[in-house]
Amino acid sequence: MSWFRRNKPESGPAMNVAGSAQAPTVPAPAPAAAANGASSAFLATMMDYPLTLQHVYNRARRLFPNREIVTATADGYERSTYGETFARVERLAGAIQALGVQRGDRVGTLAWNSTRHYELYFAIPCMGAVLHTLNLRLPASQLGFIIQDAADSVIFVDADLVPLLRGVKDSLGSVRHIVVMNGPVPDDVEGLPPVHDYEALLAAAPATFAWPELDEREPAAMCYTSGTTGNPKGVVYSHRSSFLHAFSVTQVDTVGLCERDTSFPLVPMFHVNAWGLPHAAAMVGSKLVFPGKFMDPTHTAQTIADEKVTLAAGVPTLWIGLLQVLDRRSDFDLSSLERIVCGGSAVPASLVRGLDAKGLTIIQAWGMTEMSPIGTVSRLKSSLQSLPFDDQVTYRAKQGIPVTGVDLRIVSLDTGEEAPWDGETFGEIQVRGPWITGSYYHGDNEEMGASKFADGWFRTGDVATIDADGYITIVDRTKDVIKSGGEWISSVQEEGLIMGNPMVLEAAVIGMPHPKWSERPVAVIVPKPEYKDTITKEDIIRHLEPQVAKFWLPDEVIFVDALAKTSVGKFDKKVMREQLKDQVHFEE
Ligand code: AMP
Repeated sequence: MSWFRRNKPESGPAMNVAGSAQAPTVPAPAPAAAANGASSAFLATMMDYPLTLQHVYNRARRLFPNREIVTATADGYERSTYGETFARVERLAGAIQALGVQRGDRVGTLAWNSTRHYELYFAIPCMGAVLHTLNLRLPASQLGFIIQDAADSVIFVDADLVPLLRGVKDSLGSVRHIVVMNGPVPDDVEGLPPVHDYEALLAAAPATFAWPELDEREPAAMCYTSGTTGNPKGVVYSHRSSFLHAFSVTQVDTVGLCERDTSFPLVPMFHVNAWGLPHAAAMVGSKLVFPGKFMDPTHTAQTIADEKVTLAAGVPTLWIGLLQVLDRRSDFDLSSLERIVCGGSAVPASLVRGLDAKGLTIIQAWGMTEMSPIGTVSRLKSSLQSLPFDDQVTYRAKQGIPVTGVDLRIVSLDTGEEAPWDGETFGEIQVRGPWITGSYYHGDNEEMGASKFADGWFRTGDVATIDADGYITIVDRTKDVIKSGGEWISSVQEEGLIMGNPMVLEAAVIGMPHPKWSERPVAVIVPKPEYKDTITKEDIIRHLEPQVAKFWLPDEVIFVDALAKTSVGKFDKKVMREQLKDQVHFEE
């Protein structure tokens, strides 16, 4: 596959995303065609200025040189500015070139969220190479597969993560150099490709670099999906898609990131480019705070208080943990924190309420690796702001409306037809837009996901409803939705309700085979420590009974100390299903 492959522009009329019962949408003209179908196109003559990360880099360096970039360390905080950091980025680009990296080459990073990792976020794409962030929580087999599939030429690694590379040294055939950062080069690097010290490379590189002129469609970055079934699949982001996605992060009704913000990406930089925050932060010049490897709830609270963070982003588990810390301790001043952006898994209504009670606002977003990742954000429309608090919470616990640039439709699982916006009919979410991938890397065969693309739409595999206001509610992944006696049960909704029980910390609901009903729900629950020995199945059933149809009630409730999680902190239902196989046997 050529790295410079252009996505074919869409042709043909746009679907009516609102469904037949809704107001019609204007069919999009084929991009190259003129209005009125005339063959000699009358085209506007605006400049074809490339939307690249080089523009973002230049802008931050010129306009926000004194805005701070901070990384938490074991001894406190390491402080820098955009001016200093981006001067180092220029040196770094030269250093990477000196290692033989050429345009289009993939350069891996295996690192915590830090300022040095941030330097790579700009040096690699702006010199024309491809930033390939590697997930440090993957098992060796998957990490090795990903490095080989991407054919990374150089890998930058945090000193304490070098053992992970040693664990996959047989998969490093394409890797010509390893560069160690955020600590000294460890002694035991035998068997690895030549290993260098980051700071030494930087010191030896010239202060200036001749940046190439880039096409906005050249690849800037790539990430692999978490691959719970089959091998992980690569998604390649272009400069244009990264630029437009970062732009979206700065929209007021999206994340609204701006210069006055102090942003704190707790979502790992290897998880869909920390949801676009690092590039968006430079775009607007917001102060950036990186947690290093200190991402536990107590450190999180401390850093928010110390650095007066205004915007933090991470998965729900993190905020559930923060709430527990705030229940125990009242000495953290988190009054600067205006919003928490949360996604990756459903945000339970109880979490929205719990944080609200502490004066903290959580904003839910939905998306995925293939979508860069942002697809929807849950902000209350003006017409909903006068609703009673409880109804507002109901909307905030939905995944939100599609952001500008993302077209979204729901296709019924039963009929294959587009579902109406009635808040009830559910189906698979399909999307299209400028930051949604048009194919997977090496993706021209079935195993690599060719069937995920249909008529110019990407089939997300997520099941949802959409209401008349355009708010989606995620019901499940297609493979997790439970079908009992011909009726659908949403495991995600049931989990949210169970987590509303004050005795419960976390809950997952799994569909297990049943001889009569085909599947029945089983709830796996982590109780809060103080209820560990007293909570019962009846507590859960009594809590659910007034809220759900009888057939939704779980047949089994199992209490555990911890739930299996994926490498990016989501419930790992595949593992849980395996674990339950020996424990749960339904009889007719
Ligand atoms: P990843 O590609 O690892 O970011 O995973 C993307 C998947 O996470 C989506 O396809 C959803 O299944 C799930 N997900 C992301 N955000 C949400 C959300 N707000 N609510 C429910 N599920 C979510």
